[in-house]
Amino acid sequence: MNAFEAELAQSFGARVERGRPLAALTSFRIGGPADFLLEVGDEQELADALAIAARHSMPAFCLGTGTNLLISDRGVRGLVLRLGAGFRQVQFNGCRARAGAAVPFGELVAQAVAHGLAGLEFGEGIPGSVGGALIMNAGAFGGELAPVVSAVRGAQRDGTLRTLGKDEIGFSYRRSVLPPGFIVAAVQFDLIAGDRAALQAKVAELKAKRAARQPQGVPNAGSIFKNPPGHFAGRLLEACGLKGERIGGAAFSHQHANFIVNLGGARAGEVRALMELARERVEQQTGVRLEPEVKLVGEW
Ligand SMILES: Cc1cc2nc3c(=O)[nH]c(=O)nc-3n(C[C@H](O)[C@H](O)[C@H](O)COP(=O)(O)OP(=O)(O)OC[C@H]3O[C@@H](n4cnc5c(N)ncnc54)[C@H](O)[C@@H]3O)c2cc1C
Repeated sequence: MNAFEAELAQSFGARVERGRPLAALTSFRIGGPADFLLEVGDEQELADALAIAARHSMPAFCLGTGTNLLISDRGVRGLVLRLGAGFRQVQFNGCRARAGAAVPFGELVAQAVAHGLAGLEFGEGIPGSVGGALIMNAGAFGGELAPVVSAVRGAQRDGTLRTLGKDEIGFSYRRSVLPPGFIVAAVQFDLIAGDRAALQAKVAELKAKRAARQPQGVPNAGSIFKNPPGHFAGRLLEACGLKGERIGGAAFSHQHANFIVNLGGARAGEVRALMELARERVEQQTGVRLEPEVKLVGEW
């Protein structure tokens, strides 16, 4: 046992899992083991775990619900953190909502609508956690997180807890810039009073649209590529004949060309090779370079 592992075990005991495969913790069902996996129960535990990792110069990675990740077959070195029960509360105060980072984003959307608060309807059907949505500036149907976020609470790489104001977060398309290694513990949203019935109707409409467009019941990680300025990635991929293109267990969906699906036993290396093949073909045929929306994580 090295010094890092010993200190981690001293603070968290048998809760630290060594070498646990991460595939089952992702929507793609792909990914090798984490050196160390730990679920922290509250902010103080998060701060303590990060401080230990920092003292031993160990990388620390926060895993949300794994719906936007391609984790490498070799897995993730260092400490992988998940957020537990203490990060699952939602509180409303007038038009303001505060949600723990582990709250399922869809649950927050539903609660906001039930409170007659507008601003999050676009999020109907986006899987993942509030923390993951913040990091990805998740969005759909013309909406995104950025306009409704007013503050973010979390821990810096050294374990210091801190609240960031909106102007300290750099939001852009499917991206937010926070201090390096920052782990989100909770997000504050400023919403707008709306008509509950109208909000419910909007959400039902978006739900139907999503169901019609996306592959159902087969492991995937949502859109593989970002939409390049002025284009839709799916249309470019389809125009270049990539629907149905397959490497090993990974294939571009027949239903939506910007989704890669795991047909069973796909390896991360196969998904990555398929992504590269697609990027090259689209660039050759259209001159547009696609950028991944899915985050490639771990040791490649
Ligand atoms: C079927 C399907 C449909 C999808 N549709 C959409 C869509 O319409 N729009 C859209 O934007 N996305 C979509 N996605 C992608 C995905 O759901 C979102 O990006 C989601 O917000 C990711 O949340 P997560 O908790 O799963 O994050 P993960 O995939 O676990 O992580 C994503 C990134 O966020 C980081 N992260 C997660 N939690 C924290 C935290 N607490 N602190 C610091 N970093 C953290 C991770 O380290 C990683 O870098 C879809 C995915 C699927 C599978």
